[in-house]
Amino acid sequence: MTQASVVDLHCHSTASDGALAPAAVVERAAGNGVRVLALTDHDTVAGLASARAAARAHGIVLVDGLELSVRWGGHTLHIVGLRVDPEADVLREVLARQLAAREDRAERIAAKLRRAGVEAPLEGARREAGEGAIGRVHFARHLVACGVVDSLQAAFRRYLRRGQRAHVACRWVSLEEGVAAIRAAGGQAVLAHPTKYGFTRTLLRRACEAFHGAGGEAIEVITGGGGPGDVDAARTRAEQYGLLASVGSDFHDPERRWNDLGRLRPLPSSLTPVWQSWPAGCHPEVVS
Ligand code: AMP
Ligand code: MN
Ligand code: MN
Ligand code: MN
Repeated sequence: MTQASVVDLHCHSTASDGALAPAAVVERAAGNGVRVLALTDHDTVAGLASARAAARAHGIVLVDGLELSVRWGGHTLHIVGLRVDPEADVLREVLARQLAAREDRAERIAAKLRRAGVEAPLEGARREAGEGAIGRVHFARHLVACGVVDSLQAAFRRYLRRGQRAHVACRWVSLEEGVAAIRAAGGQAVLAHPTKYGFTRTLLRRACEAFHGAGGEAIEVITGGGGPGDVDAARTRAEQYGLLASVGSDFHDPERRWNDLGRLRPLPSSLTPVWQSWPAGCHPEVVS
């Protein structure tokens, strides 16, 4: 059973591929009983300022975060950064590269979609993205809007997923660079949703080993939509590599009811939470 959680350290706004503006994400989180929220948009910190203002208005704590896409061998991993300084030079430099990679990939995705007969894909995706960091979800929304597919899932399954006709590999920063940038910005690096990469057990173990070796500190043990098997798999890796444990819904859209803000299982009590060393002002067990 999922229950109300006072802490949610992974979610998205219109600054990347979420459906709600940063202030609306904060408002919804507060309404769901969240007291400590990290906004973790993909490869951008652009939503944090307005989220922070909203958090103040709603009397909750906003943790400055982001979710970096990184390259590990031929795979992409997602690394959440928590309590980063959004102004840190190293982080800004990495984010500039990530946004350039997203732009470059968007052009190449659009070229493939045009070849598949889709009209004005780049313009459509840009319209969906607005000011946000452009990503595959914006193309998926455009494909739904044009009637090419009838759901976001179908857009990924038929066009955007690896192996499909509009898939394009993106030139993300490496795992080591991503983790180093988060640390240089004073933050903690968290391996996001470990069971959602479609890895075998062996590959996931190797990914955790590489992440730990690169200076990663924590792993998401509780994530939106996951079941007991997902919790167990992440707990095993946390114990094996001495990683702290994090909790985050990966909320994107209120229509996806199964990963709403703050609707999460409790952390297994044997694990050390990522917030263990946080100051009282943002410590979930102190703020309430
Ligand atoms: P990007 O970072 O632009 O490559 O896009 C990755 C994002 O696409 C993820 O964070 C999810 O929000 C979304 N996504 C990935 N796979 C699917 C899927 N099958 N259905 C819907 N959204 C998906
Ligand atoms: Mn996303
Ligand atoms: Mn992710
Ligand atoms: Mn996410």
